[in-house]
Amino acid sequence: MSAPKIITVGSIALDTLETPSGKVSDALGGSSTYFALAASMFAPVHLVGVVGTDFPEAGWDLFKSRNIDVTDVQIVDGKTFRWGGRYSDDLHSRDTLFTELGVFENFQPVITEQAGQADLVFLGNIHPGLQKAVCERTPNARFIVTDTMNLWIDISRNELMDVIRKTDIFLLNDEEAIQLTGKDDLNKAADTLLAYGPSVVIIKQGRRGSLLADGQTRIRIPVVPGITVVDPTGAGDSFAGGLLGYLANHSEADLIPAVIQATAVASFTVSGLGVEGLLVATPDVVIERVKRVSSMMK
Ligand code: AMP
Repeated sequence: MSAPKIITVGSIALDTLETPSGKVSDALGGSSTYFALAASMFAPVHLVGVVGTDFPEAGWDLFKSRNIDVTDVQIVDGKTFRWGGRYSDDLHSRDTLFTELGVFENFQPVITEQAGQADLVFLGNIHPGLQKAVCERTPNARFIVTDTMNLWIDISRNELMDVIRKTDIFLLNDEEAIQLTGKDDLNKAADTLLAYGPSVVIIKQGRRGSLLADGQTRIRIPVVPGITVVDPTGAGDSFAGGLLGYLANHSEADLIPAVIQATAVASFTVSGLGVEGLLVATPDVVIERVKRVSSMMK
């Protein structure tokens, strides 16, 4: 067996979602799930995580039907991580209704030696201590890509900073960038984030697209036009999946087409409830949207 192209750690969850267009309970979700479903369109993904004995068979079937290796997903006696979120009518804001850690509470990632040789590492939204543990087990990665959320900036800032220092590409949204740096101007926030260590920072701005920043350049990438947003859950994680999916197939890392592919993949996720929108995406239809975004940048 050869080393996997992409390894990821994050949450595998059962989500309860309340949106203006519909509700769903205990639907397959979690940062790793969205990421893996997105990235596996382009390259094999090795998933690291934990679920409880209540994790549904349909979830395993879905992972197995994709290019997703679940060897390092532990099944522990207890309940799968559950998260509930409710969106405002305009989908601009979201309240967390509950977070039930379940088997996540005592989770320690275990990574087979082969998997630790992965080319690309995605540290999805999860406690920074766990991100750090995975980072330490994947010393030869070409890129370590990290995502986070406001909760960890609030309660585990020091551990998060340790992870950011080891990160090559740091993904976060505009609110998180402001919260972490104290700078309202995103260009200045990007400067500060780059000074923490990553060589690339990508700040996601929802329907306003994203800002790609490295030491030399700042590039704004727009979203796919004309998409009706139904449920933004997992948009950031599937954005990351599209990004790493691109990097997995290109040895020369040109980040602009990688971010355009990320944008195109995320546009599928937001157009359905839970993972439904993402599940209809295929590389062929993603390419059509890549072309639409690229033509807007000319
Ligand atoms: P996003 O919309 O990108 O913030 O991702 C939403 C996903 O993150 C949902 O599927 C949740 O299950 C998962 N999630 C929410 N809170 C947490 C948390 N504290 N730790 C890990 N995953 C979480």
